[in-house]
Amino acid sequence: LLKQTALTLAAFTLSRDLFAAEAEKFAQLPDVDKIIKLSSNENPHGPSPMARKQMMEAVNGSNRYPWDVTTKLREEIAALTGHTKEHIVMGAGSSELLGLVAVWAALKKGNAVAPDPTFRLWMPAARKTGLDIKLVPLTDKKMTDLQRMKEAMNDQTKLVYICNPNNPTGTVLPAKELEAFIKDIAPKAIILLDEAYTEFSSEPSMAHLVNDYPNLVIAKTFSKIYGMAGARVGYALAHPTTIKQLNELQPWANAGASAVSLAGALAALKDKTFIDFCKKENALARSIFCKALDKAGIPYIPSETSFIYFDTSNFGKDVKAMLEAKGIVGARTFEEGTKWLRISVGTQDEMKKAAAALLS
Ligand code: PMP
Repeated sequence: LLKQTALTLAAFTLSRDLFAAEAEKFAQLPDVDKIIKLSSNENPHGPSPMARKQMMEAVNGSNRYPWDVTTKLREEIAALTGHTKEHIVMGAGSSELLGLVAVWAALKKGNAVAPDPTFRLWMPAARKTGLDIKLVPLTDKKMTDLQRMKEAMNDQTKLVYICNPNNPTGTVLPAKELEAFIKDIAPKAIILLDEAYTEFSSEPSMAHLVNDYPNLVIAKTFSKIYGMAGARVGYALAHPTTIKQLNELQPWANAGASAVSLAGALAALKDKTFIDFCKKENALARSIFCKALDKAGIPYIPSETSFIYFDTSNFGKDVKAMLEAKGIVGARTFEEGTKWLRISVGTQDEMKKAAAALLS
């Protein structure tokens, strides 16, 4: 596992370096004054002013392990969801916890079922530790196909992953359907429900179900609505018996993120004004690009997230290249052989530039 983690880290470093090299290349283009990065669905506004202040102050105390702040943060998160701190495990980003849950499931050997395309960062660790992953295509409306996922399961299925809203498509399962699926499947396999983008969506979290289903683990992050991707803070919400088992897989349970990051997360959680601002700005910026897609006759999935998934197959022009010519990088495909692209939502100004590049 350690070797795998090292390899994964090496791959990340490589892709980040490649990105820097690419960005430098685009910066040389005549029409480009500044590179606009619309990948990884990062929040262009964050962190919140309150989080910035607390992070600066927390630097002074970072000679100590972060037990106080991580406990306080778990209590605050628990209070928001009507649970206790024993229902929460903190991690260095939710991707650490997705990997942890995958490894926990892999201890039981068997297979995992996941939609395709979806967020995949947890898959290498799951495969390396013994889970065979069955990918289930989305419906023709790019919706997670719960019926086909059920059909793909067998008595060896130990893990079912669902990302709602789904990345990269932005499609959202209605709460009723998802809840019925969880009630049906959770007695048989671990359900890893990734709610990285729930705060942007009109559909609610499934947090209320964790007491009834110890197999249900909900992963959440401070990287999106809270604008703290670089701080690396995430958490999982589950039944206390499940959290205990996940804690045993962490070297320092609940202290994977730094004291500085955790202090920022604690402040970010309470900064309602900033959260509302990010939500509103995201919707406005998103609609600027969607209007341009409408104008260009490019179909897209109505988005309730901080990214947009659109189909350029009948457009006749290379949208990725058009954007890159103006220094807008990060639009990319997740389904080989198709011309669907995902672009992250930046600021209103950035999306105006992206819209202009599309219509140029
Ligand atoms: N889940 C989904 C669906 C994501 O899109 C991302 C980040 N792109 C993550 C989890 C990971 O977030 P974190 O930064 O918390 O590791």
